[in-house]
Amino acid sequence: MKQPPVPSYYRATATPYEPHAPLQVREEMRVAIIGGGFAGLNTALGLAERGVRDVVVLEREQVGFGASGRNGGFVFGGYSLGEEALHRQLGAERAKGIFDLTTAAVQRIRERVTRYAIPCDMVDQGVIWANWFRDPNVLRKRQRLLAEHYRVHWDWLPQEELREVVRSERYYDGLYERNALHLHPLNYAIGLAAAAIQQGVRIYENSDVWRLRRERNHWLISTPQGELQAEHVVLACGGYLAGLRRQIDRAILPIATYVMVTEPLGDRLDECLRTRAAVYDTRFAFDYYRPLQDTRLLWGGRISIRNRSAAAVQRVLTRDLLRVFPALKGLRIDYAWSGLMSYARHQMPQIGTDGAGLWWAQAFGGHGLAPTCAAGELLAAAVAEGSEDWKQFADYGLAHTYKPLGLLAAQTSYWWQEFNDWFKTSLEG
Ligand SMILES: Cc1cc2nc3c(=O)[nH]c(=O)nc-3n(C[C@H](O)[C@H](O)[C@H](O)COP(=O)(O)OP(=O)(O)OC[C@H]3O[C@@H](n4cnc5c(N)ncnc54)[C@H](O)[C@@H]3O)c2cc1C
Repeated sequence: MKQPPVPSYYRATATPYEPHAPLQVREEMRVAIIGGGFAGLNTALGLAERGVRDVVVLEREQVGFGASGRNGGFVFGGYSLGEEALHRQLGAERAKGIFDLTTAAVQRIRERVTRYAIPCDMVDQGVIWANWFRDPNVLRKRQRLLAEHYRVHWDWLPQEELREVVRSERYYDGLYERNALHLHPLNYAIGLAAAAIQQGVRIYENSDVWRLRRERNHWLISTPQGELQAEHVVLACGGYLAGLRRQIDRAILPIATYVMVTEPLGDRLDECLRTRAAVYDTRFAFDYYRPLQDTRLLWGGRISIRNRSAAAVQRVLTRDLLRVFPALKGLRIDYAWSGLMSYARHQMPQIGTDGAGLWWAQAFGGHGLAPTCAAGELLAAAVAEGSEDWKQFADYGLAHTYKPLGLLAAQTSYWWQEFNDWFKTSLEG
């Protein structure tokens, strides 16, 4: 009988480390960061690299507990809001400026993994965007837009070439993004934390910040067993809402998405993938997958306003997988889990401040690895050097999401787009 899948491959293969004790003292610090995901850890490391050492990260559970330790591991440029909308909303120059932050972040991630020797199975072999539809225009349009307005070149992959490396009848042509990679995100988070600690940052796990108060000229931060005074506070809690500032929480829609990992496939992996690149497709409700070092296939997809059990995730994602690789029928799924992304109504990250030392970095959506690295740099430069570069995000404020109606609207819009994908597919026969 098939065993039900256990929760997370990433947890099962996490780099072991001595757990960080909870905050149990009263301390004064220059910067307190709430949230030990990529946004918080990148800010902490960015500060440490700039010589700011009295920095604390407070994490409710463990480092990488949230989306950062559960995601697909794709590291590529851009934001959840596509390049076309970005160009339309900000104009050519500003859109390119804000987009370039993410391509630079891909390079910074590469360099940090090497410099700090982070064991996170980084595979620097690019990402393939495979066309689910026969019509090649969606590829041509994006390739042209990226080249003309962002000076970024994605290579054309004709159908025969694509099918050589992604052995599925499902796809037509594709595009290949060379400046992209994939990695084990939880081990990358654990490695970022270790690099920050090495440079003087303190990290407290199991430290749920339950109160944040402004007092005279500092912030008072309370956890069940300790208290901190800090000049600056950074809220980096993603879809796992901090519950500390209504205006900041209500600007976020927490949206679930799912991942599963197959049994080791051995030579069968070669029957599906003859590339080490990661792959996603051109539908709104796309599949994303990548080969792992131990010949397993990591498969992700779907968006929902509710978390599902591991067994339910396994069921829906296996159906998706078999549509692309029917030859894998009967395979065993060893792990399945879900995670919460944080979306803003405008689909861009929210990076800002109240002007009195309270900062936020959230709403990275389903496209967060590179943008959280960029955000960490912007916030670190703001706090350490008074840089105003973060203002590039000023147009994307804390727009109210009107939960629960906003959640229903997001789910309905996803279903509608999913229906459109299905309709377009069936028209093509
Ligand atoms: C299943 C899945 C697949 C994805 N795939 C990709 C991908 O392939 N590529 C990509 O670029 N992006 C991907 N993403 C998105 C990406 O993972 C996120 O955008 C990114 O990790 C967000 O990081 P974060 O630090 O903002 O939030 P999180 O990683 O969610 O961290 C927030 C942390 O704050 C903590 N916290 C909350 N409240 C408090 C409190 N009061 N006190 C203390 N701590 C608190 C939480 O415990 C949590 O650990 C995916 C997301 C998911 C869920």
